Amino acid sequence: MPAALLTDASRRLEQAAQYAPISADATERLKFPKASLKVAIPVRMDDGSLRVFEGYRVRYDDTRGPTKGGIRFHPQVTLDEVQSLAFWMTFKCAAVNLPFGGAKGGIALNPKTLSKFELERLSRGYIDAIASFIGPDLDIPAPDVYTNPMIMGWMMDQYSIIKGKRSPAVITGKPVSMGGSLGRSTATGTGAFYVLQTMMAKYGQSPEQMTVAVQGFGNAGSVIARQLFEAGYKVVAVSDSKGGIYSSKGLHIPDIQQFKRTHHTMQAVYCKDSVCNIVEHDNLTNEELLSLDVDILIPAALENQITAENAHSIQAKYIFEVANGPVTADADIILEKKGISLFPDILVNAGGVMVSHFEWVQNRSGLYWQLDEVHSQLSSRITREAETIWQIAQKHSISFRTAAYIHALSRLSTALDDRGTRDYYKS
Ligand code: GLU
Repeated sequence: MPAALLTDASRRLEQAAQYAPISADATERLKFPKASLKVAIPVRMDDGSLRVFEGYRVRYDDTRGPTKGGIRFHPQVTLDEVQSLAFWMTFKCAAVNLPFGGAKGGIALNPKTLSKFELERLSRGYIDAIASFIGPDLDIPAPDVYTNPMIMGWMMDQYSIIKGKRSPAVITGKPVSMGGSLGRSTATGTGAFYVLQTMMAKYGQSPEQMTVAVQGFGNAGSVIARQLFEAGYKVVAVSDSKGGIYSSKGLHIPDIQQFKRTHHTMQAVYCKDSVCNIVEHDNLTNEELLSLDVDILIPAALENQITAENAHSIQAKYIFEVANGPVTADADIILEKKGISLFPDILVNAGGVMVSHFEWVQNRSGLYWQLDEVHSQLSSRITREAETIWQIAQKHSISFRTAAYIHALSRLSTALDDRGTRDYYKS
C-alpha cells in the first residue's frame, strides 16, 4: 500500500479520472512509484568523526521521458515525502507538456549545521550512492528546498568523474559557468508570476486593486513577491521560517531582499543606497500570515501548510501554490466550499522544471540561449498550459486542481496506452 502522504496525493488522481476517458490500467499504474532507492551516505566531518546520512531517490514514472525532479536537503525528508513529491513531478511535467517523467530525491538533514566542505562531501557522497540510478537519459536531478546551483555543480562534477566524461545534462540548475541556463535560478517565481497574471486577467482584476501575502521568502517566494511588487500589486505580508512582517500600506520588497541578503534576517525596511531604516510594521507568525484578509495568498514554503485544521480561517480569494503540496486534499474541499479559487502547484510552480528542460536541451545541443529567449519560451509555454487548464475547469465546472490533473492525466494515459502492453497483459 502507498504510504500516507502519497495516498493523499493520489486522491487527486482518482478525482481527475472521473472526468477524463482514462483507462483503468493507467490509473492503477500511476498509483505506485516505478523505483525507490534508499541509501546511506557516510561523510567524514571536519572534526575527523564519521557521520552517516540517509538519502533517497524515487523515479515515479518514465512513460513520457526520462524522470525529472529536484533534490531537497531538509530534516523532515522521508521516503513517503519523496515519493509524493515524485508523484507531483510526474503530473507537473505532463501538465506543462515536458518530455519527462517524474522523480525526486532528498537527504534528511539540516544543511545549516554543516560546513561548506562537509556539504560538498555529502553532495558528492550522495551522487556516489545513486550514480547508477540517474543519467541524462534516465533521471535528471535539480535543486529543491535548501539545495542550490553550487550543490548541483558539485553533483554534476562528481557524476562526470564517475563516468569518466563531462556530463552536464545529468543535472539541471547548475551554475551558468558549468552549463547552467540563464534564468533558471528565478524560473519558478517568474513562471508563477506569468500564471498569476494570466488568471487575474480572466477575472478582470488589475494589480493596483490587489493585496498579496507570501509565505516563504526563498528562491521562489522572494522572486514572485518582487515581480508582483514591480507590477503594482500591494504585497502586504511576507515571511520566512522564523516568522513574518505585515504592513497594510504594502512592503517595499526589493529593499527587504537587499536587507536579507546582507543581514540574513527579514525586516520591514526602506533603504536609501546601502542604508536601510526599519519602517512601521507588525510582526506575525507563519500561521497568522495564512489567515490574513488579502486578495491573493501565495504559500511558497513547504508542503502541508493549509490543512483541515486551518482551512476554515483562510480569507484570501485566490491561492497560488508556489510550494509543492502546501494544501492537503482535505483542505481543498473546505476551500472550495468557501468559494476560494486555488491554482495548483503542478501548474503554478512548473516554471522551474520548464527552464530545467531548456537547460537540458542546451546541454545536449551545445547551443546556449540568451535570457530573453528563455523568458519568451517560458512565458508562451506556461501561459498556453494555464489557458487550457482554465478552459477545462470552466467546461466541467470543477476546481483548477482537478482540471490540471485531467490535463496531465490525459497526456500520461495516452502515452501509457500507446505503449501497447495492454493487449499483451490481457491475453
Ligand atoms: N524542484 C523543482 C520542482 O519541484 C524543480 C525540478 C526540476 O527542475 O527538475 O519543480
